[in-house]
Amino acid sequence: MTEHSSRLVVLAGPTAVGKGTVAAYVREHFPEVWLSVSMTTRAPRPGEVDGVHYHFVDDAEFERLREAGEFLEWAVVHGRAKYGTPRRPVEAAIAAGRPAMLEIDLQGARQVRQTMPEALFVFLEPPSWDELVRRLVGRGTETEEEREVRLTTARHELAAAREFDVIITNDEVRHASEELVSLMRSTASTGSLA
Ligand code: 5GP
Repeated sequence: MTEHSSRLVVLAGPTAVGKGTVAAYVREHFPEVWLSVSMTTRAPRPGEVDGVHYHFVDDAEFERLREAGEFLEWAVVHGRAKYGTPRRPVEAAIAAGRPAMLEIDLQGARQVRQTMPEALFVFLEPPSWDELVRRLVGRGTETEEEREVRLTTARHELAAAREFDVIITNDEVRHASEELVSLMRSTASTGSLA
């Protein structure tokens, strides 16, 4: 039996696997779960709301916070923008005993593994490589060049699945989200995972 005394779940997985969609589903259907809102230097996409999906900041503000030690973890993702998890809200959620979730990339998950090893690390995997490519092309938010960068990163990230405590296959968003939340509930109520 692995002990996971914290109610913190760290969700990672390759680009386009649907982490954001799973996070959105959890936000809508499981309000008891506290979701960290990351800070990013990238521009908002249509429909994204500042303070809900991300805190959108410029590079100077991001650097100011980073130097002040305000991030639990941070990373440059896909060689483009900076992303970071504000430390204080996570600590407050944990202190309040709320099941909390971070949806971050692999580099960030590895950093949290160092500082909060008691968290539960969950890897979201696609049903297949072809399906991952199909999802990335289908969402149409990246240029051809950006897609190539993301797919190269994704190949490395898929190989890292074995570093995680649990692997969930995102075959269907409702199914994967419910699996994730039931895992959080069992971890939260027993403080351990069989
Ligand atoms: P997107 O730009 O598509 O919203 O996200 C790109 C990647 O950044 C995703 O893999 C997402 O998990 C990751 N990401 C989002 N927020 C954070 C964060 O706070 N820290 C880290 N390390 N990665 C993040």
